[in-house]
Amino acid sequence: MRFTKTAAVMAAAGALLLAGCSGGNSNTEEPTVKEEVTFEAGTTMARLHDAGKITVGTKFDQPLFGLMGLDNKPEGFDVEVAKIIAGELGIKPENIEWVEAVSANREPFIENGQVDIVVATYTINDKRKEVVSFAGPYYIAGQDLLVLNGNPDGIKGIDDVKGKKVCSVTGSTSAQNLKDAGVEVIETDTYSNCLTPLRQGEVVAVSTDNVILAGLADQNPGEFEVIDNPFTEEPYGIGLKKDDTDFRNFINDTLEKSFNDGRWASAWESTAGKVLSTPTPPTIDRY
Ligand code: GLU
Repeated sequence: MRFTKTAAVMAAAGALLLAGCSGGNSNTEEPTVKEEVTFEAGTTMARLHDAGKITVGTKFDQPLFGLMGLDNKPEGFDVEVAKIIAGELGIKPENIEWVEAVSANREPFIENGQVDIVVATYTINDKRKEVVSFAGPYYIAGQDLLVLNGNPDGIKGIDDVKGKKVCSVTGSTSAQNLKDAGVEVIETDTYSNCLTPLRQGEVVAVSTDNVILAGLADQNPGEFEVIDNPFTEEPYGIGLKKDDTDFRNFINDTLEKSFNDGRWASAWESTAGKVLSTPTPPTIDRY
C-alpha cells in the first residue's frame, strides 16, 4: 500500500513537472520593462503607459508564433515581440491582455478598438493599409505548402496544386494568393482546423506561411511535411489604428532598437528558433 501511494505521488509530481515544462515560458527570458518612461500627453503611448496595460490580438493555435499554453499564457515569437513593445511602454508582461485573433478578425479588432495592437503573423499589404496601419516588418515569411508525410501526391510547388483542393483560412493573404493562382480553396477559420481535412484526404495540401506550417509539422511529429518551395513574400507587421502615426513611429523605433540590442534575436531563439534558424532582421518600412 505504502509503495503504491508513494509511486502515485511520484507519478503526479512527474506529471506536474512535465506540464510545467511544456506549458510554460520556462526558457523565455522576461523582456526589459522600462521603469521611468514618459510620453507626450494625448498620444496612444501615454494612454497605454498611464493605464499600465495593453490589449494584444494574437493567434492562439499557431505553434512557434502564437500558441496558448496550458498555463493560460500564450507563447511564441509574436508573443515575445508584443512583450518587447509593452516593455518599452513600461508595461509588464503580466499586464498584457491577450485576445485571440484569427485571420479574418484582425482588421475589425483594430478598427473597433477591441485590441490596441495585433501581432499575429499579419502580412503588411496595401489592401489592409486602407483600414489599419502597420509598423514593421519584424519578419518576412513566404507562403508554402504542407502535405502528408512522404508527400503521396508528389507535390513540388504551387503549380502542382492548381485545380486541386487545398485548405487555407478565410481573410488571409494565403487563401487569396491560392485563388489568384487557380487553386480550389477549402476555407476554414484557423490553420489548425485544416489538419483534419488533410489527414482525411479531403484536400491535397494546407497552404499558408512557411513558418506557420513548420510549427504545425513540429507539433505533430511524423504526420506532415513542408514542401519548402515558398512562392510569396509575407512581411509581418504590427497592426494598429489607421493613421496613428506617433504610435506607429514609436513601434518602429522599438523594433529597430530590438533588432540592434539583441532582444529581437533572443525572442526568436527562445521560440521559433527552437525549430527554425535565426534570420537577419528585415528593414523597417516607414511608409
Ligand atoms: N500572413 C498571412 C496573412 O496575414 C497568412 C497568415 C495568417 O493568416 O495569419 O494573412
